[in-house]
Amino acid sequence: MSIRDYEFWFVVGSQYLYGPEVLKTVAERAQEMTDKLNASGNLPCKLVYKVTAKTNKEITDVVREANYDTKCAGIITWCHTFSPSKMWINGLEGLQKAWCHLATQYNLEIPNEEIDMDFMNLNQAAHGDREHGFIGARLRKPRKIIAGYWQNEDVQKRIGKWMRAAAGVEFSKTLKIMRFGDNMREVAVTEGDKVEVQMKLGWQVNTWPVGKLAEEINAVSESEVDALMKEYESLYDIATDNIEAIRYQAREEIAMKKMLDSEGCCAFSNTFQDLYGMKQLPGLATQHMLASGYGYGAEGDWKVSGMTAIIKFMTEGQKGGTAFMEDYTYNLAEGKEYSLGAHMLEVCPSVAAERPRIEVHHLGIGDREDPARIVFEGHEGKAVVVSLIDMGGRLRLICQDIECVKPILPMPNLPVARVMWKALPNLTTGIECWVLAGGAHHTVLSYDVDAEQMRDWARMMDIEFVHIGKDTTVEALEQDLFLSDIVWKLKSC
Ligand code: MN
Repeated sequence: MSIRDYEFWFVVGSQYLYGPEVLKTVAERAQEMTDKLNASGNLPCKLVYKVTAKTNKEITDVVREANYDTKCAGIITWCHTFSPSKMWINGLEGLQKAWCHLATQYNLEIPNEEIDMDFMNLNQAAHGDREHGFIGARLRKPRKIIAGYWQNEDVQKRIGKWMRAAAGVEFSKTLKIMRFGDNMREVAVTEGDKVEVQMKLGWQVNTWPVGKLAEEINAVSESEVDALMKEYESLYDIATDNIEAIRYQAREEIAMKKMLDSEGCCAFSNTFQDLYGMKQLPGLATQHMLASGYGYGAEGDWKVSGMTAIIKFMTEGQKGGTAFMEDYTYNLAEGKEYSLGAHMLEVCPSVAAERPRIEVHHLGIGDREDPARIVFEGHEGKAVVVSLIDMGGRLRLICQDIECVKPILPMPNLPVARVMWKALPNLTTGIECWVLAGGAHHTVLSYDVDAEQMRDWARMMDIEFVHIGKDTTVEALEQDLFLSDIVWKLKSC
């Protein structure tokens, strides 16, 4: 499914008090606003004007329809006039899709000559949106509030970003993850309560035998391998004479894809501790699958795999890139404080600064033949790293702002893809905050989402969200985490 397949419904609040002429004008303007927002190019999904709501039944009906329509990823509400909110209670109480309250108004400026009491009755969003805001607060409904003029590009882009997060919610509810093998022995942070995750996020996380994958790998035909080799050659420089190693990765990719696709899985995990019947740890195979949108987590880390798939879906059509990542090592020299992220093999080439190379090198871990992998440097730019952890009884999503740089060293003997970044607020405070919050070593690194979108997603999913950014201090974060722990325990009672 593509993000473009989702749509959002525009529901405009009013009432019968002002007479039919006003209601006709409101409906015409709502349609005009919808058309112009769709034509702006700033929304990733279609907006559909549904109704100027004047009664409890109209609102309840449109919400019921939204809940059952698989194309509808959420509603956007706005009150052109005053819309008494008791009539919204039944509908909003039953709403199961994302909700954005757009606090805007039709006109940009107050017209000096034209303004009279008729104008005031028609254009009273400042008044109506406050009544609407009250009922959202009173119902404790999770909602996004975006204020500003609807033709302003920044406002439109914020609506677009929220749409991506809301589409990510719908994608999450149907996500299936295929596990090959269990989690790496003794590792804590990659564990998690799959029942809790399915209740909160909707993910279906299940295991398939590695032996079955080995059979599929052996059954791949030479012509299937030839076709995928052509694709590799078109995308990557072949920087090795060991073509057989590349062909084996192609075989692994074809087999993994067949198994995932046959079960409708968009994400997978595997582990170097369970490669029964396989000649190489999948490297290139996994990297190329990541580049085409699949989620992945190494060492059995199905939580990072799911998050990678979701963020890739949310950012469809964007160009910055999203990768499975791992914090590996630091440069602690004063004035040159950087993190170096990499993995043994599996970093997604969507974040590459230049045309990537396929290389074959020895890999000490996993006790298999030398695997082919894609090697490159990550590009510069603002990004985030995201980690989903299981706190026992609840999930916590941690998002840190980072600034990726061109690696300050060529590191010619490092045989894997690498990304170098400056963490915010700075390296050491950033580490202290991340470690305090319990963030994993595995993350999703994305240049295409920001903390606001991840916060929106977490709010809709009803999970805890922690943001580490330029203004974060250890002291304030410690206090937030302490209070948050109490709140989330109460919420789950
Ligand atoms: Mn790892």
